[in-house]
Amino acid sequence: MNPCPQRRNHSYDKPEYRDKQSEGKIGAKNGQWKGDDVGYISLHEWVRNRKQKPEVCEHCKTKKPLDLANETGTYTRNLDDWNWYCRSCHMKLDGRLTKLQEKNKSWRKSQCGA
Ligand SMILES: [Zn+2]
Repeated sequence: MNPCPQRRNHSYDKPEYRDKQSEGKIGAKNGQWKGDDVGYISLHEWVRNRKQKPEVCEHCKTKKPLDLANETGTYTRNLDDWNWYCRSCHMKLDGRLTKLQEKNKSWRKSQCGA
């Protein structure tokens, strides 16, 4: 994972960011967060409920899948864009897609070191 940005008091630490983040988490659990700003976590839940978890990681086909990953980094509700990966494959994929995903999940950077 990327190291925490040193400028912790930058805009990511604004209260709005934290509020938005916790709302998203709670909403995803309750299934009541359905605004336009659905966000990464709720979409994950949506896909998780629809994309069946396979026996093995869809990439290495050996380990148990733990994480749902978005193949394209666009986070659409297209199940074909999503795959179940084991932790190590997911990490590798994440690193590869970091640039693509930056604009989609930049607000999540506030989770860093939390
Ligand atoms: Zn794997």
